[in-house]
Amino acid sequence: MNGYELISKIADESREEMVARRRDFHKHAETGWFEMRTSSIIAGILTDLGYEVLVGEDVCDKEARMGVPSDAELEKGYERAVAQGANPDFIEATRGGMTGVIGILRCGEGPTVAMRFDIDALGVFESAEKDHRPTAEGFASINYGSMHACGHDGHGTIGLGVAKALMAVKDQLHGTVKLIFQPAEEGVRGAKSIVEKGHLDGVDYFVGAHLTKKTEDNPADFGPGSYGSLATCKYDVTFHGLAAHAGGAPQLGKNAMLAAATAVLNLYAIPRNGEGVTRINVGRLIAGSGRNVICDEAKMEIEVRGATTKLNEFMSEYAERILKSAAAMHDCTVDIRLMGSSISLDSDRDFCDTITKVCTEKMGLVPLADPSIRKNGGSEDVAYMMQRVQEQGGKASFMRLMTTMAAPGHNRRYDFDESVLPKGVKAFAGIALYLLGE
Ligand SMILES: [Zn+2]
Repeated sequence: MNGYELISKIADESREEMVARRRDFHKHAETGWFEMRTSSIIAGILTDLGYEVLVGEDVCDKEARMGVPSDAELEKGYERAVAQGANPDFIEATRGGMTGVIGILRCGEGPTVAMRFDIDALGVFESAEKDHRPTAEGFASINYGSMHACGHDGHGTIGLGVAKALMAVKDQLHGTVKLIFQPAEEGVRGAKSIVEKGHLDGVDYFVGAHLTKKTEDNPADFGPGSYGSLATCKYDVTFHGLAAHAGGAPQLGKNAMLAAATAVLNLYAIPRNGEGVTRINVGRLIAGSGRNVICDEAKMEIEVRGATTKLNEFMSEYAERILKSAAAMHDCTVDIRLMGSSISLDSDRDFCDTITKVCTEKMGLVPLADPSIRKNGGSEDVAYMMQRVQEQGGKASFMRLMTTMAAPGHNRRYDFDESVLPKGVKAFAGIALYLLGE
């Protein structure tokens, strides 16, 4: 049996174990920076397999994390993780939202291959309807308001399957494997802090993947790459004014609501850009304290996007100018807090060809029909990792793992066909063996 056959055998034989693990992650869904139970369990499994394991402050640069919840919320999350069966050997390291795990396998001289698996859930209330399979089969989220509605429970599970498969062929590997279990992908908050910590420095090949919906009649198992996700910035904006009596002395107030309202209308008036598509959205606005009080505080959640990093910068700079000017018009001040960001991603075409070759010829998987490399419509912070690798002369790709889904991503009835789990292991582990074994 050669290495590829051994990987396939292990992937197929691990199917039940992976389904159970995926369902355990699903049931104990944790949103960004709360993945403390999840991280502790991943760290325990990687350690048992024989990996060198990084946890806590060794994974993410603490200050570069974006959109981190309050200390009080994180402490509650920590207590919940402990109560829900976190691994006691690793949970302490994750306290305060220092989530994420990196497993390293060193096999002598050779290139470094990094593979990324995101592990966070979404702030979605999972369906309790009886025909929603996770509910019917008892693995719906018990953490009300947190749900794996984007398949990252599958991503983390595939990563652990890859760890097991690669350990079994490690005598055939020449180089280093880094398995990155990334926190806080939702809201594009986590990847940059891993890059800032230096974990992508010196990486020669990088692969990430996302589960993607396929139709019942489509035989494809994977797409070797994708391109063109939107660059984006997410901001929490707070206008500060001064409260005053609305009847007695309104002239003494500084109206934060007026500043915010001025900003909303003008944000949507940012001109189109001839270089490509852009987006602006004000998703939330909360202002004021009562009918007869001049409003002293207004909070907004906004985001901008652009087809390229440059277009996104155009949007963010314009938006910032509007926010500051709107505040100044009404003698208010404004705090603009970056809560998440990503650049645009692009997969290396020649590397995608290599991936297609390995996944089809060595692993027996079916590629997407032409065009096999497709445009990514959303935003993905894996782009930061890819960019760091590519600017050093390395190759990177963000794949698709195709599977049927019960509902679209981010929907409360989301679920996926778990037969993708062993296929994902075959794809990732086969690529690593090819890059380090031949
Ligand atoms: Zn996702």
